[in-house]
Amino acid sequence: MRQSVLFPKTRKEAPKDAESINHKLLVRAGFVDQLMAGSWTLLPLGWRVVNKINQIIREEMNAIGGQEMLMPLLHPRGIWDETGRWEKAKEIMYQMKDTRGKECGLAFTHEEVVMDLLRKNITSYQDLPVYVYHFSTKFRNEARARSGILRGREFMMKDLYSAHTSEKDLMDYYEMVKGAYAKIFTRLGFNFKITEASGGVFTDRRTHEFQVLAEGGEDIIFFCDKCDWGQNKEIFEGKTGDKCKKCRQGKMIQSKSIEVGNIFPLGTWFAERMRVYYADKEGKKKPVWFGSYGIGPTRVMGTLVEVSHDDKGIIWYPQIAPFAVHLIELGGEKAKEVYTKLTEAGIEVLWDDRDIAAGEKFADCDLMGIPIRLVVSDKTKDKVEYKNRNKDDVSLLGMDELILRLTA
Ligand code: ATP
Ligand code: MG
Repeated sequence: MRQSVLFPKTRKEAPKDAESINHKLLVRAGFVDQLMAGSWTLLPLGWRVVNKINQIIREEMNAIGGQEMLMPLLHPRGIWDETGRWEKAKEIMYQMKDTRGKECGLAFTHEEVVMDLLRKNITSYQDLPVYVYHFSTKFRNEARARSGILRGREFMMKDLYSAHTSEKDLMDYYEMVKGAYAKIFTRLGFNFKITEASGGVFTDRRTHEFQVLAEGGEDIIFFCDKCDWGQNKEIFEGKTGDKCKKCRQGKMIQSKSIEVGNIFPLGTWFAERMRVYYADKEGKKKPVWFGSYGIGPTRVMGTLVEVSHDDKGIIWYPQIAPFAVHLIELGGEKAKEVYTKLTEAGIEVLWDDRDIAAGEKFADCDLMGIPIRLVVSDKTKDKVEYKNRNKDDVSLLGMDELILRLTA
């Protein structure tokens, strides 16, 4: 794509009210725009990144049998009264009356809707298990919405729901989802820990959070320096340096972190309240076992910026960068040909074809953080100058060599 037509332009200054790094850099580089506290537009560049994140998540959800669908965001009060969450969740849920006086709420999660789908469609054990997920907006009346896109009042979530005939079947699948989540965050390139947390008000079991170690995080976790055990500060009894309670060898370390995913073994709590039963082999009625599993792709984008940037701008990991290469044209006739050849080779190129100073182009390039910078000028002749965003050394490559390197 030509940068001359890309909407919008970058900005020299961060918004005055921006406190967090992701807020400052994503706005300056033209990835997101804040409409009001907690409410964001994903601009064309930001939308490209989120779609790449979503695609990685989608592949891993499909690999464990997840079926993608799309559920509504406007919910009738009735289903929420069945679980008692209309009253319990008043602080977080946006609730209103429409012009006919009907009470509705905006989705902050979708357990009730999935339960309603299940009771309409499940009769016997043969109809289970069910694994369904969607990507959609969630609304939450967050008290503080100050961490840029890490905490929106309207944000994107991928939520998966699973329904089972037994606790064992639920917990076996729960472990599969844990594995899928670990794969997702590994593919995304994060340094993360899986930590135990409380189940909130709706489950007695521990839940598991996926926490990315980050200075800009709002969470605090403790984890073992030898084994894979860790807990959120909210339930951890101990302090830094304590011996690990699991492996009894390592020491516990404290870190700030960002919660990017959370999985919940919910049991039969929802099925009992919403009367979702199936008939077992003997024809006996039993409540459905249920789990839910969430990841926030917009928070993931913000997290990446928090952990991967320098004083010049963002440094995207290649797997979720908005473009693979940023082609900087500094005079000469060659840029168009390079752009065409790379595009034909299936490489995503942002081509800075603007008639502005070289320094401005380089500054934008560093700010936007596309992993590879290519420069074409009179000086490079029939070659292209190649540089990684996070390294200083440059090399001059011929076209064939360049395409080989970019498609390797
Ligand atoms: P937090 O403790 O940060 O408020 P949560 O535990 O309430 O989050 P969950 O209900 O577990 O959030 O939601 C699942 C995932 O959705 C989170 O792990 C996170 O990635 C994302 N998420 C939750 N709240 C927000 C938000 N306000 N803005 C952006 N993403 C969010
Ligand atoms: Mg959570």
